Amino acid sequence: MLLDGQQAPSHPWEPTSPVLKRMLEETGLFQVDQVTSPPVGGDFSNFKPEFTKYQAVLLNYDTTDDQWPASLKASFEQYVRNGGGLVVYHGANNSFPEWREYNLMIGIGGWRNRNEKSGPYWYFKDGKLVSDNSPGNAGSHGARLPFQLVVRDSDHPITKGLPKIWMHAPDELYARLRGPGENMKVLATAYSDPANAGTGRDEPILMVLSYGKGRIFHSVLGHDLNAMSCVGFITTMQRGTEWAATGKVTQKVPAGFPTADTVSLKASYIPAPERRAPAQKKK
Ligand code: ZN
Repeated sequence: MLLDGQQAPSHPWEPTSPVLKRMLEETGLFQVDQVTSPPVGGDFSNFKPEFTKYQAVLLNYDTTDDQWPASLKASFEQYVRNGGGLVVYHGANNSFPEWREYNLMIGIGGWRNRNEKSGPYWYFKDGKLVSDNSPGNAGSHGARLPFQLVVRDSDHPITKGLPKIWMHAPDELYARLRGPGENMKVLATAYSDPANAGTGRDEPILMVLSYGKGRIFHSVLGHDLNAMSCVGFITTMQRGTEWAATGKVTQKVPAGFPTADTVSLKASYIPAPERRAPAQKKK
């Protein structure tokens, strides 16, 4: 289930949901139903998604409101607790700052008045995940530039076989995320460069968590269609979703995966205006 329907102005779901659906279905492993909730302020009385019909729920859901009825929240919590897979994509970690169980599922989040009451900051220091209780707001990013991901756990099925360091396409590098961080393993970090409004820390970028029997994959990547055309983004979403759904990854690392210093975009995903003119034929 690809769940969307609410958005902050910076994260419209209409352009991104078809791209997420396509990248999952083209693996041949998934059949994706797009389920769209009422918009902010809409009537939720008849919105009862059948979570249990699905092996995984992918949230393309950055809501600025907190209007899910208690029964909907309870059914979602029960689904994940009983072993449902969950994929948290980019701005979904901005949502629901006050919903405790949701924050246990995502581990860390940003914005929407999150601060030290939401939990500590989490980042890598001297090669290890640390928490930091210092006060302050949660969530920041600099300009969209390419940045390197550093794989911190190469034994996990999602990251197994990926290069230790790879260059991601221009994207928001989320930093200063805070949250409970329970049952969370950070698979990859990125250095948040002070020269680009960053923290000078190695920030969590790809994570896995558990909530009850549920498996959760959380990727902070993929702000826009350009970032989503990165072979590294596509591959980690495909593998992370398979893992959330089944606990395994059967997909091979594709040819053309980015290297430590070269961005690699999947040509058919590059948004049309930015697509490069085909190379001139030599005579
Ligand atoms: Zn964003």
